[in-house]
Amino acid sequence: MEDKNKLHICIRSLFFLWFFLIVFFGLEFLEIVSFFKQTSFAGIISLILFNLLFLSILIVFHYITKEEQLLLKKEKDVVFWQYHQISALANLINKTGKALTTVLNKDKLMRLILESFIKIFHGPAGFLLLYNENENIFEYEAGYGINRTNLKYHVIKNTHPVIADIINNYRIVTQHDISNLTNKNIQFLKPDKLKKIAKGIDTLITITLRIGDKIFGIVFLYAAKTSALIISEYETPVHIAINQATIAIGSAIQTQFAIQDRLTMLYNHDYFIQRLKEEIFRCKRYKLKLCLMMLDIDHFKSFNDTYGHLAGNHILREVSNIFKENTRITDLVARYGGEEFSIMMTETTMNDALQIAEKIRQSIYDYPFEYEDQKLHVTISIGISQLDGSKDNTFDSSDFINVADKNLYEAKRSGRNRVCS
Ligand code: GH3
Ligand code: MG
Ligand code: MG
Repeated sequence: MEDKNKLHICIRSLFFLWFFLIVFFGLEFLEIVSFFKQTSFAGIISLILFNLLFLSILIVFHYITKEEQLLLKKEKDVVFWQYHQISALANLINKTGKALTTVLNKDKLMRLILESFIKIFHGPAGFLLLYNENENIFEYEAGYGINRTNLKYHVIKNTHPVIADIINNYRIVTQHDISNLTNKNIQFLKPDKLKKIAKGIDTLITITLRIGDKIFGIVFLYAAKTSALIISEYETPVHIAINQATIAIGSAIQTQFAIQDRLTMLYNHDYFIQRLKEEIFRCKRYKLKLCLMMLDIDHFKSFNDTYGHLAGNHILREVSNIFKENTRITDLVARYGGEEFSIMMTETTMNDALQIAEKIRQSIYDYPFEYEDQKLHVTISIGISQLDGSKDNTFDSSDFINVADKNLYEAKRSGRNRVCS
């Protein structure tokens, strides 16, 4: 190809040389006239014919080499495209590999993986749902060009016809013509968002992140039809990249859920006890005050019986958010178990703790809970205990929890929806 390129340049040079000679002879018009006078008619004709022949050869060669130039450019484009793909895939493999050992922050990792997939498929947008195996649902985890509010549903059951089909049969599925699909089930985005995204984009690529039978999540990517070809052209690297991403996500989930409750995203019981013991030790040593709240949802059993377990789970999530909104970053909010929660408040007096507890109780009482268009009313009871590091030297974590529990029991006994200390 390089030789042909040189030939093209050579022919172009000859072409310009010939043109230059014509101009030169034009300027030397008088000499040409005198030349014609001295030359025979046949001589002039053969000179013109020779010129025309030379010119046509140059033109023919020019076009042949031009065609080759175009071919060369096309080949270069393809090579560039292939290079881009391979490097995007290598980048994803490399990044997720690194993330396996360095990125412990799950949110950051999810974004990183999603962005890498977006680069591979040149899509403008995508989102990632994580699988919650306890409840058999997929939950929104991260988005690129799409946020939680753009989705028609935040939680999708694994029995959803499209999801069930994807997870039971395939690893990668491409659905073309997303905006005109008669199957409305495939439209996971709200119509206004889909309209915005669908400009030049007609394909939904779904990638199931799984190792063996274990499913971690599904990546949804919006892309052009041509981008879907990448899957068949680079089957092996695409699958390596997906595997790598799945391992990274799996490991981040394991790390995260060693200390966090999956349903409410609060800290779990084990982590709470460990941190409570550490904090009690610190309090005694530096003579600080520490308060503990035990919180329990009132009549939750009958709530579940009336509205169903999923409505109950929704309430557990909502009250958890209210707890977090009403406490400080330095406080530790945990799901103690079932519908019981605990909040450890460092360097807090009983007076302050009582105020915070009352604020939380009132916020829950006032909150307009809703589930599937039903308005719901929820109340909680709270028991508080305090540890004074300068006095309570023999007080340990079990004593501390027992006192709060007794006060919680008292709150329940005296009518619920109240705080006792
Ligand atoms: P009380 O006012 O005395 O606290 O009554 P209660 O009904 O809230 O207390 P009880 O201990 O009798 O029942 C607790 C209920 O909490 C029973 C259980 O089904 C429900 N529960 C525990 N964990 C979960 C969960 O993860 N999801 C849902 N939906 N319900 C849960
Ligand atoms: Mg209860
Ligand atoms: Mg309880």
